[in-house]
Amino acid sequence: MAKHSTRLTRLASAGSASAASVGIDIGATTVKLGIVTASGKVIHQKEMETDASSGPAQFMKRLTSAIKELIGESKVNTSYTSYECWKRECWKRKSQFKGIGIGCPSWDGYNEAIGEAHNLPGFKGLAVGKIIEKELGLPTFVDNDANAAADGERIFGGWGDATRNLVIYTLGTGVGGGVIHTNPKTGTSTKITGHKLRGAELGHITIALPPGRRSRRCSCGHPDCLEAHASATAVREIAREKVRKILEERKKTKIIDMVEKELILQDLQIQSKSDACSTRKTCDEKIKYIEARHVAIAANEGDQLALQIEDETAHALAEGIRNAVQAFDPEIVVIAGKMGIRWKRLVEKAIKKYRGMQSVVSSGDVRIEISRLENAGILGAAALAAPGK
Ligand SMILES: [Zn+2]
Repeated sequence: MAKHSTRLTRLASAGSASAASVGIDIGATTVKLGIVTASGKVIHQKEMETDASSGPAQFMKRLTSAIKELIGESKVNTSYTSYECWKRECWKRKSQFKGIGIGCPSWDGYNEAIGEAHNLPGFKGLAVGKIIEKELGLPTFVDNDANAAADGERIFGGWGDATRNLVIYTLGTGVGGGVIHTNPKTGTSTKITGHKLRGAELGHITIALPPGRRSRRCSCGHPDCLEAHASATAVREIAREKVRKILEERKKTKIIDMVEKELILQDLQIQSKSDACSTRKTCDEKIKYIEARHVAIAANEGDQLALQIEDETAHALAEGIRNAVQAFDPEIVVIAGKMGIRWKRLVEKAIKKYRGMQSVVSSGDVRIEISRLENAGILGAAALAAPGK
């Protein structure tokens, strides 16, 4: 495959593309694009390498071509779609294409451009939405990934009326947050984002640590944000520190066994199991491969250290849920993101811990669920162009 080629996966017949929209999930390494029907089915899908090093101009050129290809291959008719038409709510007519939605990391909604994005160096100020709208003449809507995820759950999540007042946490490399509030009198739903559209950063709300728990600095510079204790990055760092300590004490942990298994499967000539951590050097080489997923698997197999990390992470997440419930009194809290969806035991533990915490807003009144959406990134983005279904 050529370096910048796109991959088309035909998931189903394109026959039911009525009221479709395009959803685009921009990530640091991959851009995922899909045609999404009104019922939340991804009927055509494409992937493109982000390759931020090629620069923003090249990136936009490739992205525009990928969208054109996707629309062309799906045979969705967009010829009658325009922003003017969208504003007149033409999309309410069942057969009409709605537009393009984009979930983008570090999106600065106030300036309608990418903000300080560590994962996309050189992309600051890139007005992704405006460029696509100009190039393709189709209504285009952009929001940050966690806000898009909130819209995805509202429209496609299958939670019914509970999404009138919803909080979402996305657990991944970082911790994202989104809040939807519905005015009980008018029935109008709004995403709570603040006066410059930068709010709802639930991953950067400080959490209370139990006695003896070590304080950790967050990527934002502040100590003990939720992200510093419950993101996949935090779990990975905590695991690496604790595994190093336990191996120095000549104790065993399945976390390192998981890494070894994976390295052997990948045929990486690190070391065989027999010489596991026989020297400081071989230990360090393995420790640097530890990821959050190894902790999740080892915890599932009853490893004591992994269970301890899982417990601590669950406590942090429970604190985060508590903070959000006290602030917004939601009907439902949805835990999403790759880590949230895949590490069910962690979320279940967090829910249990949260239910046992003291709070002003009763913890029994709120539903807490794990997202059921596959292709959540694409669906969330598509939802931005699909208000009210
Ligand atoms: Zn922070």
